[in-house]
Amino acid sequence: MSALRPTILFPLFAKVTTLPGIGPRLVKLVEKVAGENIVNVLWHLPFGIVDRRFAPKVGDAPPGKIATLTVEVLAHAPPPPTRTNRGGRAPYRITCGDETGKITLVFFHAHGDYLEKTLPVGEKSVISGKVELFDGRRQMTHPDAIVPLHQIDDVKRVEPVYPLTEGLSPKVLDKAVRAALTKVPVLPEWQDAAYLQRQKWPTWHDAIALAHAPKDEDDLSPLHPARSRLAFDELLSNQLALALVRLKARVRRGRSLSGNGKLRAKVKAALPYALTGAQARSLEEIFADMASESRMLRLLQGDVGSGKTVVALLSMLAAVESGVQAALMAPTEILAQQHFETLKPLCDAAGVRVEVLTGRLKGAARAPIVEDVAAGRVHIVIGTHALFQKDVEFKDLGFAVIDEQHRFGVHQRLELADKGSGTDVLVMTATPIPRTLTLTAYGDMDVSRLDEKPPGRMPVATRLVNVERLDEMVTSVVRAVKNGAKVYWVCPLVEESELIDLAAAEERFAHLKTVLGDKVALIHGKMKAAEKDAAMDSFSSPDGAKVLVATTVIEVGVDVPDATVMIIEHAERFGLAQLHQLRGRVGRGGKSGSCVLLYTGPLTQTAKERLETLRDTEDGFVIAEKDLQLRGGGEVLGTRQSGMPEFKLADLTVHGELLAAARDDAKLIIARDANLETPRGEALRTLLYLFEQDDAVRTLRSG
Ligand code: ADP
Ligand code: MG
Repeated sequence: MSALRPTILFPLFAKVTTLPGIGPRLVKLVEKVAGENIVNVLWHLPFGIVDRRFAPKVGDAPPGKIATLTVEVLAHAPPPPTRTNRGGRAPYRITCGDETGKITLVFFHAHGDYLEKTLPVGEKSVISGKVELFDGRRQMTHPDAIVPLHQIDDVKRVEPVYPLTEGLSPKVLDKAVRAALTKVPVLPEWQDAAYLQRQKWPTWHDAIALAHAPKDEDDLSPLHPARSRLAFDELLSNQLALALVRLKARVRRGRSLSGNGKLRAKVKAALPYALTGAQARSLEEIFADMASESRMLRLLQGDVGSGKTVVALLSMLAAVESGVQAALMAPTEILAQQHFETLKPLCDAAGVRVEVLTGRLKGAARAPIVEDVAAGRVHIVIGTHALFQKDVEFKDLGFAVIDEQHRFGVHQRLELADKGSGTDVLVMTATPIPRTLTLTAYGDMDVSRLDEKPPGRMPVATRLVNVERLDEMVTSVVRAVKNGAKVYWVCPLVEESELIDLAAAEERFAHLKTVLGDKVALIHGKMKAAEKDAAMDSFSSPDGAKVLVATTVIEVGVDVPDATVMIIEHAERFGLAQLHQLRGRVGRGGKSGSCVLLYTGPLTQTAKERLETLRDTEDGFVIAEKDLQLRGGGEVLGTRQSGMPEFKLADLTVHGELLAAARDDAKLIIARDANLETPRGEALRTLLYLFEQDDAVRTLRSG
């Protein structure tokens, strides 16, 4: 991947296939569970232990306990030959013993040849496994280990237990880990010596070895010195990488955009409401950034419904007043379209030209707009991320707002600043991210918070309902529609089985149609743009559809103020943050809303707690914190599409303090040695490569 990676790390980035003694079929499984490089195997830490040090005489081995026994093989008893199916066959038995007693080894579906070879009669062997009592006699079914006497030390130890995958035996994975450990080089120390000493942490080399050789339960704790050290290494690499990328973006001069306030005044006058205190405060922070000479990179964090859109608009107008263009990037076409429809009348009121560019706009309709953007005749452009990245050229893009919804990687996000010349960037996130996670995703980015909802927001009563009561739900939806309600009905789309899920949504649509006729519309990702538009238009208009059956969160990421009911099927399959976002779609237009979380039982304890959290609070921050606690940081936002970093060694639910320390350390490093040129700096480069932050190191080279 990287031509720059230091040679000292090469052994760690060799493929798992190069490890000795693991065949191609098993390599696939090791790769599946850990990753394709040796370093990934090292990051695959044990979660349990089996103590095989207990080595009694056979006669003293207590049933129910794991024991390692040294025995002589006395007799083999293969199953009698039968013609019935294999499943019905008796097991293969081998009697062993020592001077104190006997034990029978039991093997189902055994290969006799193999057993005769590994356990020849008259030989001494070491077996390890759980001792059982059957008909008053000791037996051991499928021993975990069988080795000749001279290998007893390989077995008689505390064995780490690793996360596995189907078909992968503990033995094979253990072998892979042991082999990987032999590849671990001694690396230069990148941590501050005094800090290491204070924490009483081992060197990286020792920490890796210790983490894979737990002696008791305490050694498995994430707070154990070896594990803490490894977690801190990972967090420091994350914080340092962010700080470096950030530094680069900052150093390049921005431009001062201040404007005369005229356009903003016109739009404010056209707004049907006054700004909230939080909106006004955030705007002041944004305007101050824009006016300064250095490049702006700010995060606007606001719960769903907190009114980010108008903040984005007023910020963009400040840029337009300063004579530059502004862009708003939305994560999907529907949202881009929606933003356009919201902002167009306001821009018209100020005499500002706004256009939307989406993938569906083609040929003759598209060309003149693209041309006008390039010529600077369009002041504000709204579009999807993908579109901006492709072919749109601005005359002078001075300000970009990214309505990001966590679909971007950290570096992409920060490097977007490279697009224009000195373009100021405002990132808006809809999900309230706990402070710890903001740090890992953005580093010490400036944050403005919309922590106050616009007035007139009504509470949304939330209920959990078992899907067995679906018929009742349908009846109450029919009643609500008769009373004038607008209803979202969301069916989840799970990637693995998109077609099945689509079928489920279509079936629900058909079902609701039988009772509500053409008052129901369907929208999903596989529909053509025009069909989607038609469905949305119908649901938004006063005499159109009253129920919108939708497959994904994204399709519903829209603003239909008079929608009041949200029904979410298979709520247990959604992330908490997603559910919270969905629910935020109702209760907007001054009418109180209701939300039904339809679940399919039985619920796990965690699933139950998650849904109950949602039922009990509407505070996005409380929900996000709870989510973090229940699922761990990596998953809190549905990491896979989120662009949030996934940690392999750090666990933010317990390493929050280490994260803060890593941030402070990164700051200090940047202040003292921004080019990483001191001996510690050199070592830190190795750390960055170790955690595959190659992009961050590259910022150093290009200076
Ligand atoms: P989000 O932060 O989820 O993007 P929006 O910008 O879509 O929120 O705003 C949600 C709703 O609140 C919109 O209908 C918007 O018109 C309305 N709104 C925004 N700011 C205010 C305000 N200060 N007072 C009243 N309503 C507001
Ligand atoms: Mg929004």
